[in-house]
Amino acid sequence: MSFQSLHDRGVIARWREFLPVSEKTPVISLNEGSTPLVHSPRLSALVGLGCEVYIKYEGLNPTGSFKDRGMTMAISKAAEAGARAVICASTGNTSAAAAAYAARGGMTSIVLLPAGKIALGKLAQAFMYGAKVVAIEGNFDDALRLVREIGETEPIAVVNSINPYRLEGQKTAAFEIIETLGDAPDVHILPVGNAGNISAYWMGYNEFHQHKRSTRLPKMIGYQAAGSAPIYYGKVVEKPETIATAIRIGNPASWDKAAAAMKDSGGTVDIVTDEQILAAQYWLASHEGIFVEPASAASIAGLMKCMGKDRCATCPMPTIAEGSRIVCTVTGHGLKDPDVAAKHISGISTVRADKSAILSLIGG
Ligand SMILES: *Cc1c(COP(=O)(O)O)cnc(C)c1O
Repeated sequence: MSFQSLHDRGVIARWREFLPVSEKTPVISLNEGSTPLVHSPRLSALVGLGCEVYIKYEGLNPTGSFKDRGMTMAISKAAEAGARAVICASTGNTSAAAAAYAARGGMTSIVLLPAGKIALGKLAQAFMYGAKVVAIEGNFDDALRLVREIGETEPIAVVNSINPYRLEGQKTAAFEIIETLGDAPDVHILPVGNAGNISAYWMGYNEFHQHKRSTRLPKMIGYQAAGSAPIYYGKVVEKPETIATAIRIGNPASWDKAAAAMKDSGGTVDIVTDEQILAAQYWLASHEGIFVEPASAASIAGLMKCMGKDRCATCPMPTIAEGSRIVCTVTGHGLKDPDVAAKHISGISTVRADKSAILSLIGG
């Protein structure tokens, strides 16, 4: 073995025995996974009852989101099958990951994006990693339908989460949490868009439970954006709208799996407004130093709405037991969406390059 530990070589190397790979699978990795599980003293205090809140910081993956965990699997399996080109529909992060891993594997990547609805950082990534970018006049759900149709007739591998290898890779985040905490948490909170990630975590938690690597299963709690909440409302949303573009999805591909995960675990699905999402995003950055993109802040907004001391009177959330361990996954990095972040830039004062001028300005 080289100087690198297993943890530094990506999720396939670290969790090989739990993944559908063999000696014949060429591993295409950017050393994704093994992201920090950060304890949050301030969120813990907010929940009270002796609960401990941890943040799984998935923005620290190689392309800045959890999508890398699934993409190392999807691209490695596509390479094993001899694919030369891959295609995906994306709200942005899937395309960034697909393009990066395809580049790493020497393949062509094609990404279908809903025109005008992609965060700037993600769009720049797709181009930077050399993808062929096609914007379509439609939303994510239209793009996914077209990708499925193209995959049926063309020699191009589909790497959306309808590709089962994606969820296999993504389940490794649950393994890491169990390994870090020594057991599964009591509650796990996630933003829900296409609903693959919450389904993947539930798979991972169940798998380790069956292997006796954990003694419990967490309640899985999903948050959708209020304007884009098909699972919460129980019907397809034709024109989903939210500032959290990564979860702007009206007809999730993994709807049934995610709904089953939330129900079977004793969890639930709920909604947060764009205002709550943006407030949580700013709060997390300015109170804990963790800067996430808006979609990721949906899990924090949900925690604040439903588990904080100020929880609303009509909260549908199961009460959290005393001393619970709660994990919130924050799915993508804040720099992905510079336009949203830039709204916080205001009132910069320019002064002479002079110590006393600075001190009088900052009230020192
Ligand atoms: C993809 C994505 C989501 C939604 O995950 P699903 O598996 O589609 O539910 C949430 N946040 C970010 C940053 C994402 O990239």
